[in-house]
Amino acid sequence: MFPPQFSVVIDNDRCEVCKRCTVNCSFEVLSYNEKEDRIVAQDQKCVACLRCASKCPQGAITIKRNEITFSPHPTWTPEIRLDIIRQAETGGVLITGCGNDLYYPCLFDRIVIDACQVTNPSIDPLREPIEVCTYLGKKPKQLIIGDDFSLETEITPNIMIETPIIIGHISYGAINLRAHKALAMAASKAGTLMGSGEGGLHPELYEFGDHIIVQVASGRFGVHSKYLEVGSAVEIKIGQGAKPGIGGHLPGEKVSEDIAETRMIPVHTDALSPAPHHDIYSIEDLSQLIYALKEETDYMKPIFVKIAAVHNSAAIASGIARAGADAITIDGFRGGTGAAPKIIRNHLGIPIEVALASVDKRLRDEGIRNEVSLIASGSIRSAADVAKAIALGADAAAMVTPALIAMGCTVCQQCYRGTCAWGICTTRPDLARRLDPEVASRRVYNLISAWTTELKEVLGALGMNAVESLRYNRERLRGVGIDQKTLEILDIKAAGE
Ligand code: SF4
Ligand code: SF4
Repeated sequence: MFPPQFSVVIDNDRCEVCKRCTVNCSFEVLSYNEKEDRIVAQDQKCVACLRCASKCPQGAITIKRNEITFSPHPTWTPEIRLDIIRQAETGGVLITGCGNDLYYPCLFDRIVIDACQVTNPSIDPLREPIEVCTYLGKKPKQLIIGDDFSLETEITPNIMIETPIIIGHISYGAINLRAHKALAMAASKAGTLMGSGEGGLHPELYEFGDHIIVQVASGRFGVHSKYLEVGSAVEIKIGQGAKPGIGGHLPGEKVSEDIAETRMIPVHTDALSPAPHHDIYSIEDLSQLIYALKEETDYMKPIFVKIAAVHNSAAIASGIARAGADAITIDGFRGGTGAAPKIIRNHLGIPIEVALASVDKRLRDEGIRNEVSLIASGSIRSAADVAKAIALGADAAAMVTPALIAMGCTVCQQCYRGTCAWGICTTRPDLARRLDPEVASRRVYNLISAWTTELKEVLGALGMNAVESLRYNRERLRGVGIDQKTLEILDIKAAGE
């Protein structure tokens, strides 16, 4: 037995043995020792979710990382050694949750945004209006106005969102109904969109349909006419940044009656979506599905296609635009997940920054950028990331992990176990009850609202009164400590140039 990753330190002088922590810990770390009349901890089971510490009325709990459990070694880090030990014991693939946690450089953190000085005055967002509403969907290349000044160009359906920040896809099943509903309520109040994920839509969410992108993934879980009818857009999921090249997996234990009914599968069976769509092996096949969905929705809804960021995303996106899609979501390799093999999550795919820049450039070079909107996702962490993504070419940015954090998630990476102590990534009724949808939705709404205000601040500092002026405005970005080749791909200059 090796030392655990975390130590739970209980200050017995402060502890008044209320036992609240034992009830709150869903990983069975803490228990009451009757003989000694004190709380005892099994450190081996601790995942540092911090639920116990946050609920302790005495502030008596400290979670510490056991940094010195192994002798230091730059190559054989404690994590690598622990992974090997776990695999030697189980013979299995390591499964994990949340986004890539290896220390790859984050390009967003090496890009800075310009600001106005002297000759081009900035705008005060508190005193002057700054427009951030965004339209998602195909745009005409030019507008033809008739002799009677009527518009002759046929405008394909677009969705207007009041902020370019949307909530990305997370499925009912990966999170429970209360959490899914909280996200839908927040998206609706903020005038933006959320993604249904691949698990269908519970009827309780139908009323928020105007603010939901319904997803059609390879497993086709929960896809039926009503589902397509209630959504404001339909997204075909080809790939996901956290696990490019593989399908999804919802363990049977999480497939409760309601989830089974929504997904249209038997109760307690594993919901496995295959790696490929078994009817899509070419751009022509994809085009057929796009037009089948357009037919089904009377050509009234934009059809999105989501791909994972990979080295040839630009060529793939070009094909998707030509196949008739109205928007493309590109999901970078730091994107979140409820469950993925650790090897896939940490080592496959590429960062969103370079994928987005190369897709946008390719579509512009080919003169088809207007054919699709671009949505960037995969570790959008702040309004700064949103602004940088827009300047790199995105029409909108999608985030999920920040919304989960707003609801209480502490990124403990245990989502795949179904015992989320914060009542989010769990379908256990006793744990799900911990999440109040009203409170959670208000917190997610507050987050979107705060980011939107910050985005307006950035636009004002850039002397722009509309987000449209920032789109593909790479001249206002500069790289710090980025190599020349990557600067070329990002199509931005180095700071000082
Ligand atoms: S919640 Fe705090 S005060 Fe209550 S038993 Fe646990 S450590 Fe003690
Ligand atoms: S959703 Fe829950 S289980 Fe998943 S990372 Fe957040 S706190 Fe942990």
